[in-house]
Amino acid sequence: MTEDIPLADEVNQVATLTGMALGAGTQRIFHKIIREMNKPPPRRRTTINVSRIRHAVAELNEQAPTTKAIWECTRDSDSPVAINGFNYKNFHDGYRLGDHWRYIPGFEERVRCNLCKEDESMEHILLECESPLAPTRTIWLLAEELCRMKNIKWPALSYGLVLGCGLLRFRNSKGKYRQGASRLFKIVVGESAHLIWKLRCERVNKMVQNPPSAHHLEEVRNRWIKQINHRLALDKILTNKHRFGPKALKRAIVLNTWSGTLLNEDRLPNDWVTETGVLVGITCLRPPGRNR
Ligand SMILES: [Zn+2]
Repeated sequence: MTEDIPLADEVNQVATLTGMALGAGTQRIFHKIIREMNKPPPRRRTTINVSRIRHAVAELNEQAPTTKAIWECTRDSDSPVAINGFNYKNFHDGYRLGDHWRYIPGFEERVRCNLCKEDESMEHILLECESPLAPTRTIWLLAEELCRMKNIKWPALSYGLVLGCGLLRFRNSKGKYRQGASRLFKIVVGESAHLIWKLRCERVNKMVQNPPSAHHLEEVRNRWIKQINHRLALDKILTNKHRFGPKALKRAIVLNTWSGTLLNEDRLPNDWVTETGVLVGITCLRPPGRNR
């Protein structure tokens, strides 16, 4: 086993294999090579997911992202830990869903979606479930509505595109990169997918399953709006140079991301970052009978 080989021997082995003279590299470089050599091969499902992202993004960007860029979607400094973690687990097909239950005695019924009885998978939950009780359609329509306010041409969503949403590069008619629009798309698609997953977990773990019940679509809508407004508020907070120093988010990036999508935007100053009560232009539905 690798652990049994003395390090010096291993370094010599690596040097021989790579054709490097021992004196040509530092200890740090050799350690790096050894780590790379000892890495387990990527899981088949991970390789498939990375490939799906590459193809989905390449179709729209007209250039395939590098593997390194694809993996950066799981540690995006611009995204909350929850979204990066959700992406990372999905890259590895790490959630115990659908097929993972097929050969576990006594749990076979968990293979299927309890709303439509199709085989369940993350792709099914996020994009395919056509049950009227599923929040999928409501959430993606809201995401599309907000992106259209920013003149983003809504693409046909695929699983690869949802996982690689941070890699899309929207451009204007002159071919100029639209950084704000691309960033908005990343935030909206990432938050939407994560919310669909959270609602599915709440439904399965906390709600009556037989017959299946689910969140009311009005609640789904209101939770999506709340989550997007939360990201907008977070962006505003992160511009605070007193709190975050050189790591503070640039105001121009925040303005560029959200401008065009805000409620009563014509009444806001051009630099609205420090204004209170700034919300996106899609509003919550009120329960009937209130504030009439
Ligand atoms: Zn379903």
